[in-house]
Amino acid sequence: MFKKHLRTEGIILRKLSLNEGDIIVTLLTKEHGKIDCIAKSARRIKSRFLGRLELFNRIDATLFSGRNLDVINEIETVGSQNFAAATVGTRHGASTGTPDNATHFLPNCAAAFFITEITHRLLQPGQHIAGAYPLFLEALSLLGRRPNAEGLMTGYLIQLFGLLGHMPSWRICAVCGESLDLQTPLTLAHEGLAVCCAKCSKNSAGFALGKTDEVLLKIVHFLQTHTLKEACQLNLSKEKETLWQWIQNVLRALLPYAIKSGSFAEEVMKSY
Ligand SMILES: [Zn+2]
Repeated sequence: MFKKHLRTEGIILRKLSLNEGDIIVTLLTKEHGKIDCIAKSARRIKSRFLGRLELFNRIDATLFSGRNLDVINEIETVGSQNFAAATVGTRHGASTGTPDNATHFLPNCAAAFFITEITHRLLQPGQHIAGAYPLFLEALSLLGRRPNAEGLMTGYLIQLFGLLGHMPSWRICAVCGESLDLQTPLTLAHEGLAVCCAKCSKNSAGFALGKTDEVLLKIVHFLQTHTLKEACQLNLSKEKETLWQWIQNVLRALLPYAIKSGSFAEEVMKSY
């Protein structure tokens, strides 16, 4: 909640019907983090918000502080086209949803829903994390260019975990504090949120990064330190399963319940 009114750029993360006419919209904004706000009468046929409040849309919004939630006063779409259409890459826009388009762009759609839901779940209302908005914007923009959706999804998650302070440092052991040698077998302790050395690994029931998982360690490190564009170029064929398993571990540690779009994304990725 802020004083009187505010103008901000944001992307729509979620929409919920509040009553017959109104919608609760969750925005990830550029300067103010995640905001829940009400779009009054947005469900009415003659609503001035019609077509502008679609999921993934990038908007410029003017908000007024209301009694409980902020209220959307004005909305303008940023850019010349519907951002949702560009994101899922359909020729005629996301709303057409013909079976052909849906099949062809399924991995992109799955990735868009998955990263959007995770971003919504991991950020609290009013929480502003520096770097989260540009990262999300970049991920959606890249999805419009039909990338390797799997590389983008894993790269996005690992970088978001990093922004939220949930990534291992890779420099020192989380248990004994000694410098780590990345060439030796390591363990991801504390549900995958910290890394510990070979000595401490013996006493830790973590996610072991044995000799066979050296590649996984390198991949996570790569995804953490490179751009999303570079992440999209990574071929994750063999390590896909272990990487997903580790990501699921981290998500289970951070969230009290499963991500709804998670199994859908996993199924789609398996079949492409
Ligand atoms: Zn140690």
